[in-house]
Amino acid sequence: MTSSRKFDTAAVHAGQTPDETTGAVIPPVHFSTTYAQDGIGGLRNGYEYGRAGNPTRTALETQLAALEGGARALSFASGLAAEDALLRGLLRPGDEVLLGNDVYGGTHRLLARVLGPWGVKLRVVDLSDPAAVDAALAERAPQIVWVETPSNPLLRITDIRALADKAHAAGSVVVVDNTFASPALQQPIALGADVVVHSTTKYLGGHSDVVGGALVFADAALAEQPQFLQFAAGAVSGPLDAWLTTRGIKTLAIRMERHSSNGQAVAGFLEGHDRVARVYYPGLASHPGHDIAAAQMTGFGGIVSVALGDAASARRFAESTHLFTLAESLGGVESLVNYPDEMTHASVRGTELAVPDDVVRLSVGIEHVDDLLADLDQALAAL
Ligand SMILES: *Cc1c(COP(=O)(O)O)cnc(C)c1O
Repeated sequence: MTSSRKFDTAAVHAGQTPDETTGAVIPPVHFSTTYAQDGIGGLRNGYEYGRAGNPTRTALETQLAALEGGARALSFASGLAAEDALLRGLLRPGDEVLLGNDVYGGTHRLLARVLGPWGVKLRVVDLSDPAAVDAALAERAPQIVWVETPSNPLLRITDIRALADKAHAAGSVVVVDNTFASPALQQPIALGADVVVHSTTKYLGGHSDVVGGALVFADAALAEQPQFLQFAAGAVSGPLDAWLTTRGIKTLAIRMERHSSNGQAVAGFLEGHDRVARVYYPGLASHPGHDIAAAQMTGFGGIVSVALGDAASARRFAESTHLFTLAESLGGVESLVNYPDEMTHASVRGTELAVPDDVVRLSVGIEHVDDLLADLDQALAAL
C-alpha cells in the first residue's frame, strides 16, 4: 500500500502510524524492557523482551527498509555493531572479505583486528578500478565484496551495478556501506546490492546527537543470521536512540538537498583557490568518478576532501576554521573539519588504506553557504 510512495513521503510516514490507543500522531517511545503476556506464551504482536524486540526499534527498522527499498532492516547500537553482526552472521572461519581500499578505518580495524584472529580473511583492492576487480575475483571468489561509494575520505566512486554483476557471477554477497550518500541520494539495493550498511550516526540521524547503525537486506532470508546475532549477542539500539534516529530521518531528503548544494559550492570554491592542490568531490566534472556518480546518485552529498600540498599546511588549515568545528564524525547539520591521518583514519596509518597526510576532510553542513565560504577563505588566507 505504501511502497509506491515517493522517498520524501516515506521518510516522514513509514513506520509512523498514529498510536492506536490515543491517536498520538508521533508514536510513543517505548521504554519498557518487558511485555505482559496473555497467558504463558501469549505475546502481543510478538513482543516479549526488550533485547528481542521493541516497538520504537521496529518503527525505525520499518522506516529504514522502506527508504532503502529492502525487505528487512535491523537497527543496532552503532554502525560497527551492525557491521559486526553482519560479518559474524554471514561468515565462518576461513571465509574471505574483499574490501575496498578506501573504506571507513573502523571497518578495516574490525576485519583485521577483531575478526581476523577468528579466522576471517581480508583482501584489499581498489574496487573503483574495474580491472583490479576482475583480477581479484579471478584469483579467488570471496564470500563478501564490501564497498563504500562515495568512499571515505577520498570520495572514490564505484559503479555499484557493474560491481554487483561481477561479484554475483563469482557467487559473492555484495555489501554497500551507504553512509556517505544516504538513501536520499543513492539506493544500492535497486542497483544490485544484497546488503546496505549504515552508520546512522551520520546523515540518517543527522544532528550529531545519537550513535547508531543499521543493516538493510534485499532478501529477508539473508537477514536471518544477523537478526539472530542482534538478539543473541544483543548490540541493539536503545528506544530513545531509535526514536531520535527516526526523527532525524524525517528531514533527510531536504537536509541532503542543502548538504549537496553547499558541498558543490564549497568544492567549486576550493578548486578555484591557488593554495589548494586538489579537491575530491564527485560533483566536480574533474572528478574521475563524476559520470558514474551522476548516473547512480541523485545528488553528490556534503563531504568534500581537499589536499593542501603538505602536512603542515593541511594541519594549519584544519586548525584555522571558525565555523567548521575541528571534530571527528560527519553528516550533521553543522559543518565539521577533520584531519584524517591523525583523527578518523589514525587506525589505518601504515596500511594500504592510509590517507595522504596533506588531506583535510570537510563535512559541509546546512548553514548559509556565504558563511561557509567566508570561513574557508579566511582559513586559507592563514596558510
Ligand atoms: C562512522 C562510519 C562507520 C561506523 O559507524 P559508527 O556509528 O561510528 O559505529 C561506518 N562506515 C562509515 C562510512 C562511517 O562514516
